[in-house]
This record gives sequence, C-alpha cells and structure tokens, in this order.
Amino acid sequence: MFTDSHAHLDGKRFDGDRAEVIARAKAAQVTTLLAIGNGDGPGTGTLDCAIKLAQQHDGVYATVGIHPHEAALAKQEDFDELERLASDPKVIAWGEIGLDYFYDHSPRDVQQRVFLQQMEMARSAKLPIVIHCRPSNNSENAWDDLLHIIRENWASSGLGGVLHCFTGAVFHAEAALDLGFMISFAGNITYHKAQNIRDAACIVPLDRMFIETDCPYLAPVPYRGKRNEPAYVVETASQIGELRGLSPEEVGQKTSHNFFSFFRLTRSN
Ligand SMILES: [Zn+2]
Ligand SMILES: [Zn+2]
Repeated sequence: MFTDSHAHLDGKRFDGDRAEVIARAKAAQVTTLLAIGNGDGPGTGTLDCAIKLAQQHDGVYATVGIHPHEAALAKQEDFDELERLASDPKVIAWGEIGLDYFYDHSPRDVQQRVFLQQMEMARSAKLPIVIHCRPSNNSENAWDDLLHIIRENWASSGLGGVLHCFTGAVFHAEAALDLGFMISFAGNITYHKAQNIRDAACIVPLDRMFIETDCPYLAPVPYRGKRNEPAYVVETASQIGELRGLSPEEVGQKTSHNFFSFFRLTRSN
C-alpha cells in the first residue's frame, strides 16, 4: 500500500484520462492520494478543484490554497472563497503555499504577504500547511526566509505541516523537523544529480517521511520526461528503500501510516 501525498490531477494534462490514471494508481496499490487544490490560481474558478476530485473518489483527500506563483493575483474575494472551502470535510491541509524565488512569478514581498495571510487562515481553520520552497540558483534565499517566517509565525500553532518535494540540504531538513514538519520526497530523488535529496532521505526519521509524485511534474526514473502520475510513486518508495535497507512495500506502508497518523485519518478501506 502506498500514499501519494502530493498530486495535481486537476489540469488539462489529465482531462483525457483522469479516471484511468486513478484506476492505475489503485492497481499499483497507491490507494491514498492528496489532491492539491491550487488549480489555475485565483480568478479562474478552480480553487475548489481538489475538493471536487476528492468528493468523487474514495481515498482521495484535498487541500486548498494559493500557490506562491499566483500570489500577485490574490484578491480579498479569493481569500473569502478559500475560507469557505476550507471547511469541507475532505480538506485536510492548506497548500501548497510558500516561496518560489526561482521563477519569481510574483514579487517576493507579495509572496511573503500572501503566505503569511494563508498561515493565519490555516491556523483559524486548524489545518496543517503544505509548503513549496524553491530558492534562486546557487542560493538559499527562499529557505532562509521560509524557515524564519515559519519559526516566527507558525511553529506556535502546533499544527505542523509538510515540506513537499524536498530539495534542500540536510540542515534544512533538520530545521524543518525541529519545527514539527514532515518531509515529503518526490520522483526527483531518483535523478542522477540529486545527491542532496538522497542525503536528506538518509537522515529523515522513517516516521517523519512522506512520498509523493507532484504529478504531472517530475516523473521518476525510468519515466523521466514523461507525464508523471500517482502510480509512479512506487519508484520513489523503491529509491528510499534502497537507501534505507527496506523493500518498496515497507516504505509504502510506513509512509502511508505516517500520512494517516499525521492527518488523523481513519482508514476507509
Ligand atoms: Zn510545489
Ligand atoms: Zn505541487
């Protein structure tokens, strides 16, 4: 049994075969998914995309939130909508939110402001947060800002969260663990150059780890370059298993157990 803790199944790339993709996941024993609800961003009528998917499928849960890329588009009406959506019973986390200084699609001060505002809303909704963090090239700028903001504004909530698609250094993982975060590893852990990610996967305690696809992005080897899908999360489990002396199934079981216990879910099947 495996859990894909981070999947974007709402976009056009799945419009032709979404039901088959979810069926293939189940056939590969990927029985639990967290659908990420950023959609196409504020003002596009898609902030409820993950909820819709979760309502249609057993074992699929949802997040709501505004991605840092689209922070500059956020208006008060979008925050009002998110507040309403967050009370849906299928919503178990707020995200993905955070900082992306690599693409800088939104100005950094706006990203920080929208991040802070959503943390406040997640705190009121009593939801953990799913974090996206990407620094600019050869820099730790986004990590520095992110960890500082979380320490000052979130840690005291006791709600914790998930660092999704972890790509930092070992000391970033350690800092996040200290702040009560789970660390989620994606398919890029299988990439030849990603030694820093494998190093982190060697030190994160097995009970603080999730696995994810971040599909349709970042397909693991041997599917690299293709559209990613939840069934491929098994490749990430297999890579972590190699590093930690476990079978892919054992990594799947442990990370699924972590997911259920962190989000306080009862197994539906
Ligand atoms: Zn992300
Ligand atoms: Zn994502």
